Amino acid sequence: MMDLAAAQQVLKTTFGYDEFRPGQKAVIEQVLAGENTLAIMPTGGGKSLCYQIPALLFNGVTVVVSPLISLMKDQVDALNDNGIAATFINSALTQQEINLRLQELRQGDYTLLYVAPERLDSSYFIQALGQLPIKLLAIDEAHCISQWGHDFRPSYLALSTAIEQLPTHPQVLALTATATEQVAQDICAQLAIDPKQEVNTGFARDNLNLTVVKGQDTDRYVLDYLKVNQGEAGIIYASTRKEVMRLTALLQKKDIKAAPYHAGLDADVRRQNQEDFLYDRVAVMVATNAFGMGIDKSNVRFVIHAQVPGTLEAYYQEAGRAGRDGLPSEAILLFRPADIQLQHFFIDESEMDDEHRRQAYHKLQVMTQYANTQGCLQQFILNYFGEDSEPCGRCSNCTDQREAQDITTDAQKVLSCVVRLHSRFGKGVVAQVLTGANNQRIRESNLSELSTYGLMAGQRQKSVGELIDFLTAAGYLQAVGGQYPTLTVTASGAAVLKGKQTVHRKTAQTVHQSGPENS
Ligand code: ADP
Ligand code: ZN
Repeated sequence: MMDLAAAQQVLKTTFGYDEFRPGQKAVIEQVLAGENTLAIMPTGGGKSLCYQIPALLFNGVTVVVSPLISLMKDQVDALNDNGIAATFINSALTQQEINLRLQELRQGDYTLLYVAPERLDSSYFIQALGQLPIKLLAIDEAHCISQWGHDFRPSYLALSTAIEQLPTHPQVLALTATATEQVAQDICAQLAIDPKQEVNTGFARDNLNLTVVKGQDTDRYVLDYLKVNQGEAGIIYASTRKEVMRLTALLQKKDIKAAPYHAGLDADVRRQNQEDFLYDRVAVMVATNAFGMGIDKSNVRFVIHAQVPGTLEAYYQEAGRAGRDGLPSEAILLFRPADIQLQHFFIDESEMDDEHRRQAYHKLQVMTQYANTQGCLQQFILNYFGEDSEPCGRCSNCTDQREAQDITTDAQKVLSCVVRLHSRFGKGVVAQVLTGANNQRIRESNLSELSTYGLMAGQRQKSVGELIDFLTAAGYLQAVGGQYPTLTVTASGAAVLKGKQTVHRKTAQTVHQSGPENS
């Protein structure tokens, strides 16, 4: 096909690459054929070229909608360095500057225009865009349009109206690295993309090694890790600004070149720290989730989550910032149940409506399951995004050498207790009943009269809780409901109860601590 040959040519001459990455060819081919398209490609997969190359082949202007205001200038500078006529319009410019750029755009001075989504709320701006020969509208981070995504941005909702108002009826290319089935459908519906025109290269990142670490001291782990991986670039994510500052100070005290990043820091400081990281002046960025969207640093070797984020989508997107250059990289989640409580608290305190709150709690449960599964971590993530796959053979679960123990009897105790409690209680109460705790809640509800009361006396409440987490992650139990999820036994749990299925679990050489524990 003629067009594709031209695209190949641009890939080589303008960008200096010999081959397309997976998905790029298919997306570019569809765009050149005039189809609205949804491109789902992993972080670092090379989404930018999917619109930059068509932009160079089309007559007219390609508008790129991107939420990454702080990076727009850098992106545009990089394109200019490559000899591509690009510019941006965002709130960092004065009205005068904006008018000048619009005039230059009308004269045909630019091939690419980057805009922030907030611009599209303004009818004045839409009108100005209407005077440009816009051929293609590329919508980066397109999952932001969906309320079911983890990063919904209301300004994205103005997109579909804006598109309708443009007299050139530009075609649309939506791009994202993170979309569940539901979010992908939502993007297609809102942007008039035929779901058949979805190009999904899959979410697998073969160079990313996933690890979950449980029950270890965060500071110790991080310091040891950084000692072994001295000088490597990496990001450490934490959930609160305070924890970011604490970890940064800890690292700096050990002479590790680290800088903090969170939304509470001055814009100047943030920009400085980001640049220091981008140009390898500091090795480690300690950050909240305010850092990273669209960061094009290819040599990030590791992403450590010192605290668990609220959703698996967010986790995978943040983790995916490691290894954009395709070289082996690590994504490590340090898991402590207390951090789940913290996320729980964030949801409690947020101003979501009930339906979104329910979703948020559910997503947090999925995240908890990821931390507790003993199956392949990559498979877990891909499965969540609706993709079938084989175990990766690389992640910390695939390479876990511990022997799996038959824990069917203990599993049956837990499952029967859940049944006796008529699925009306959550993990805490189930663990208390099983260990025979004697507290007000237990007494008030007469739970000590249950036949399963004290069935696991002598085990610690905490370890029974972990067993419940394991059984939930493994699909024998299901945690249902929002803020205070209650446990129910699933079909495979029922099979275990009937003795039709056994349960195996890899455990450290557990020495059962004796002595009941009060809550
Ligand atoms: P994404 O937006 O999907 O996260 P980018 O578009 O920023 O990814 O691309 C990630 C990196 O891969 C960039 O450094 C880019 O130059 C590089 N890249 C993109 N396409 C190719 C290709 N076909 N061959 C080699 N490198 C590529
Ligand atoms: Zn695996």
